[in-house]
Amino acid sequence: MSAKPFFYDITLRDANQALATPWNKEEKEVVFKQLLKLGVQGVEVGFPIASEMDFESCQNLAKVTAKLAAQGDKTAANVVISALARAKTVDIQKAWDAVKEAPKPRIHVFLAMSPLSMEHVLQMKPMEVRKQAIEAVVFAKSLVGEKGDVEFSPEHFGDCRENFDFVLESLKQIAQAGATTINLPNTVERYRPMLFVDMVRKVVETLPKNTTVSVHCHNDLGMATATTVESYFVGSAQMECALNGLGERSGNTNMFEVAVALHNCGVEMDMNLSEIYETALLTSKWAKVPIYSKAPLIGIEAIAHRSGIHQDGASKTKNMKKGAYRPIDYSLIGRNENDILTFTSQSGKTAVYEILSHNGYPVDLDEAAELQPVLKEISEREGELSDTRILEVFREKCCNLNGRVIFRTIDVIPEDNRFVFKFQKDGTAQEESISAEGPIEAALLLSRKIGLPVELNSYKQSVVSDADKLWAGRALSEITLSANEKTIIGRGVSSDTLVANMRAIFGGINKLYRQP
Ligand SMILES: [Zn+2]
Repeated sequence: MSAKPFFYDITLRDANQALATPWNKEEKEVVFKQLLKLGVQGVEVGFPIASEMDFESCQNLAKVTAKLAAQGDKTAANVVISALARAKTVDIQKAWDAVKEAPKPRIHVFLAMSPLSMEHVLQMKPMEVRKQAIEAVVFAKSLVGEKGDVEFSPEHFGDCRENFDFVLESLKQIAQAGATTINLPNTVERYRPMLFVDMVRKVVETLPKNTTVSVHCHNDLGMATATTVESYFVGSAQMECALNGLGERSGNTNMFEVAVALHNCGVEMDMNLSEIYETALLTSKWAKVPIYSKAPLIGIEAIAHRSGIHQDGASKTKNMKKGAYRPIDYSLIGRNENDILTFTSQSGKTAVYEILSHNGYPVDLDEAAELQPVLKEISEREGELSDTRILEVFREKCCNLNGRVIFRTIDVIPEDNRFVFKFQKDGTAQEESISAEGPIEAALLLSRKIGLPVELNSYKQSVVSDADKLWAGRALSEITLSANEKTIIGRGVSSDTLVANMRAIFGGINKLYRQP
């Protein structure tokens, strides 16, 4: 019988280092708290030697964990807080200094053991590599004492088929030296899953029973989930995964896919599966990495049935644990349970997000959270709400928003780059003439002139999809604006693209400057 899965999250380290803009201390804390909500067993918080900023953010998370644990938070008290280190004294010391205040600290030491890496990257003889790894683990163990533990990774383990006997013997000695977790990285996915899984099986059979074997797979060929799941069934209890499968190149193993696959196989685990969908949406927003529409489990299309036969089968088996044409009852991961999306007074913000996204209006989770109580109130009066009704509310609350300012007209005078605005401010009709290169710049200058200044962050214009019968084919402008450290999306819709832009900016101003 396999041990309970130990989910070891690497989003804050492996995935974070691959983001276009890595997270700072505050941002890492937000992601970390979501990981605790999800209920993972271990978190690799960073690589403290990489930068002072990363050191400080690792230290902060160790302290946050200790504080939560002291307040009685059981997840925080039990979660392993791990920092990565090369097999070097200076790295190991720094890693320990960063995480030692956590209730369960860990130092994760790595050193490459594939023939290619040893010869060409490290430029060391195999016996020297083994010696360095053992010495590093002994040093790490001397620091963690009884409070923490040590994990060791032979980097590029997936490439160690040629020198497997050497690696196996090294891992035996490294475990004896004090590493209680041996992590096997498929640093680059090159071959088929079963070749790797077979190597994992041999390591499990060789190492003492009290050593935890772990796998860390990258997804270069799209098989990281398969490799990780099968490794669990040959005795690898720890799985190193990332939220949304983020990570270097094509990413690390997707935590949600592994958790759901194991769940479907009857494996008991301590993860809060119902937090998955919300966590996925938040992660996408925080990482600024969109979720592919067809992504398993979390893609917006993952629950859609288009063909008649599929729709028929799905609706006949609705509310059954094992339904036709679907791998799970999606309520398991906090999603609508089938593609006939409905909103009732029981529905949460993710339902609002899904329905609007399906209809071509990608909102973010904060906006969905703002709309949810409004829809809930309507639904208490009117019962189940249709897409059309929800779109009506969305238009009223999120598009062409009036408030302190109301847009009337814009006249373009091309000869002298001038734009004449007619609008209303705080109930009074006004007219202003602004010189600028283009209408958007003019509207931003106008916002300053009237004492409601906004900055432009990003701009997008698209055409409203056919799903929205009322507005199909019209221009939709979505302009992200900020003021006073608050960022919002202004939305404007019109059959005239210029007017759509202006309505988006005026609507954004109204969102940022509510009635005093
Ligand atoms: Zn990695």
